[in-house]
Amino acid sequence: MGLKQYWEKRKFTSTPEPSGSIKKSHKHLSFVIQHHHASHLHYDFRLEMDGVLKSWAVPKGPSMNPADKRLAMMVEDHPYDYRNFEGVIPAGNYGAGKVIIWDEGTYEPLHLLERNHEKQLLQELKNGHLNIVLHGKKLRGAFSLVKMQSDRSKSGNSWLLIKKKDAFSSLDDILKQDKSVRSDKTVDEIKGEHNALI
Ligand code: MN
Repeated sequence: MGLKQYWEKRKFTSTPEPSGSIKKSHKHLSFVIQHHHASHLHYDFRLEMDGVLKSWAVPKGPSMNPADKRLAMMVEDHPYDYRNFEGVIPAGNYGAGKVIIWDEGTYEPLHLLERNHEKQLLQELKNGHLNIVLHGKKLRGAFSLVKMQSDRSKSGNSWLLIKKKDAFSSLDDILKQDKSVRSDKTVDEIKGEHNALI
């Protein structure tokens, strides 16, 4: 994808966002989740790949509950430097509103099949099914990002972000308010789902 779309949507004389550039690969790949209070509040989930940040807008935010399937709309690649961006995008600009870093860290493929992790991740991205492990401050453990079946044909951009069941998806982890966001389920409903998964 590259950064063409990112640059086209923005005027860097009127937004504090970085114009950025494509970076060389890093040994440890970064991820970031930004809380973006735009016209519609959402969480931007970004994974470093190929010198840019592959990006998804997640309206309801991530969840540590494996029973939750959170819609994630793939958006344009963002520059690597965007992982540090916090600030207010002024009114009149694309995505106007406040951005804060909600979580950040490194990530890697869940199944290490290729020596070259990035190559493997790019293949998984192309296949529409990423399996990754996040090493964040809030989010930890295995997650899947799966392109929706109905969108498998070229142009679709709807994916689902789903926590995989592991040591980091205990009932405690799920119920911690700062980890799973915007759950409209009751504690009893979550407990029921959790029991059904064991
Ligand atoms: Mn956004």
